[in-house]
Amino acid sequence: MAFESLASRLQATFDKLRGKGKVTEEDVTKAMREVRLALLEADVNFKVVKDFVARVKERAVGQEVLKSLTPGQQVIKVVNDELTELMGGGQSKIAVANRPPTVVMMVGLQGAGKTTTTGKLANYLRGKLNRNPLLVACDIYRPAAIKQLEVLGKQLNIPVFSMGEQVSPVEIAQAAIAHAKEQHLDYVLIDTAGRLHIDEALMGELREMKEITKPHEILLVVDAMTGQDAVNVAESFNDQLSITGVVLTKLDGDTKGGAALSVKAVTGTPIKFVGMGEKMDALEPFHPDRMASRILG
Ligand code: GDP
Repeated sequence: MAFESLASRLQATFDKLRGKGKVTEEDVTKAMREVRLALLEADVNFKVVKDFVARVKERAVGQEVLKSLTPGQQVIKVVNDELTELMGGGQSKIAVANRPPTVVMMVGLQGAGKTTTTGKLANYLRGKLNRNPLLVACDIYRPAAIKQLEVLGKQLNIPVFSMGEQVSPVEIAQAAIAHAKEQHLDYVLIDTAGRLHIDEALMGELREMKEITKPHEILLVVDAMTGQDAVNVAESFNDQLSITGVVLTKLDGDTKGGAALSVKAVTGTPIKFVGMGEKMDALEPFHPDRMASRILG
């Protein structure tokens, strides 16, 4: 399970504090040293860990915490609050355009789960938010991506707009947006072309797509299993495209959790959804407070 090692380490640290009638500054320092190591081992970005520990320590050694009736509990509450803040505080919802359709560009590297997530998001929009989405097949480079999206659309009974692989992605997207307006479809989910690595050709194409389609949302799909790499990818995409949200996939695997804890702090962009499996209903809105509670047990 995700976060297993981090959660058990933090829980062991806080079990020691919880029972104490009196907590000294030294106890807090010791606990924070353990927290620091646990976060680093979970692949949380070094600077993020440093800032996090400093913030918690400053709040936790405050007189009102240490002199309270349940100082151990209060320290844990500070950690919980700060973990929640670290992941973005409140829930960040998907954009809604004032005038439909809402255009969403789905971006990411090959294998991250972009096409699967595009299908899942359409399913979520229709099932949970009562919307009528259109799936748009613009990943013309990965041989099976168009077919994959068509299969997902059929399975979900959600329309898929495609023009094969000979037409440029931007033209496909423009035609799809016009089609959505005609058909009164209110979300246009563009499955853009992924690549194995970030390169100028990819970014150039995505920038052009952004300029022309003027998306209300650019969601970057990253694989939680890749840890720090996921955060580096998010940083690069954000520099080039100013993404508006991140979808962290494969959180059902045994990821150490570093990406979930670092993405917002490093890029300033919130995680909006998490992928919890391969099935079409395995997409969940991301709640920082619930995630923090899950980690702290
Ligand atoms: P793309 O190249 O980014 O479009 O990647 P795909 O959508 O084809 O996904 C790559 C693989 O990851 C597929 O086998 C998906 O089923 C799998 N995948 C995607 N999201 C998740 C997830 O949240 N959990 C798990 N376990 N697998 C996922």
